[in-house]
Amino acid sequence: MTKTFAVIGDPIDHSLSPSIHNAAYKALGLDCTYIAYRIPRGELKAGVESLKQIKISGFNVTIPHKIEMMKFLDEQSRECKIIGAVNTVSNDDGRLVGYNTDMDGFLDPIKKRNLPINGSSVLLIGAGGAARAIIAGFAKEGAHKITVANRTKEKGQEIARFAAGLGLESDAVSLDEAGQSAGRYKFIVNATSVGLKNEPSPISTKTVNSENIVYDIVYMPMNTDLITQSKKNSARVIYGYEMLLGQAALAFEIWHNAKAPYDAMKKVLVGGF
Ligand code: NAP
Repeated sequence: MTKTFAVIGDPIDHSLSPSIHNAAYKALGLDCTYIAYRIPRGELKAGVESLKQIKISGFNVTIPHKIEMMKFLDEQSRECKIIGAVNTVSNDDGRLVGYNTDMDGFLDPIKKRNLPINGSSVLLIGAGGAARAIIAGFAKEGAHKITVANRTKEKGQEIARFAAGLGLESDAVSLDEAGQSAGRYKFIVNATSVGLKNEPSPISTKTVNSENIVYDIVYMPMNTDLITQSKKNSARVIYGYEMLLGQAALAFEIWHNAKAPYDAMKKVLVGGF
């Protein structure tokens, strides 16, 4: 019997997850299908019930449901509990088990490049759900210090406290202050949604230099203004699509208990830009 998987969120029509997972099924000849299912904010309970009724095998969760979905889980992975958000759910005969593959998906391209995180300093721009998974990842890998720069300073301060709770030295600054000092950090990560609409970089790149690793988790467009400017300044860059692939490959491995066909998944994505 064909197994069905989904991504739930709103908006969902531009999600790349169906293409990535269906490419994996095709590559491995699996009798599975993956669909995008729009569940508006406030309708999650009914949406989850309907997924159970059609005996969904598993689903990804995206904006705006990553935090609220936690209360519909029967079991949560350790990462889910630490981060306080879920992006991957498996359905075991009506029992929903939650995971968060954003954290290791974020780390994946850093590890593939053999870039050491231990003892490093991080400038993290943004303080939303993705920022929490990223902080948990840096904490797990032994980063030393994280500075959170956010438009709304109180949210930046809250997320800096979250980082401190995970053992990181942390502080919060404004986006202007971050632009003045960015070049001093080993990793500069954009975890805001700025760039999605081709906006200018959320911080000034005037201090970015060849010692920096600049990672923009916005995956569309591939070359955001932050990435383009950083490349001009000779920084090493990591693209948002690499995190997207990393988290998708890990979700695939949770659901199918088999190694994800990374190259087939990548081809459909990079070919789509
Ligand atoms: P979120 O919880 O809604 O947080 C959004 C963040 O962006 C907040 O820090 C917000 O600042 C900031 N922001 C929004 N508009 C801004 C603006 N005009 N100027 C400055 N800051 C602005 O979203 P999220 O779940 O963390 O996701 C953030 C982005 O990462 C999204 O674009 C998402 O698509 C992307 N993402 C990518 C991957 C991947 O696999 N590559 C995975 C997860 C998320 P305030 O606090 O001031 O509102």
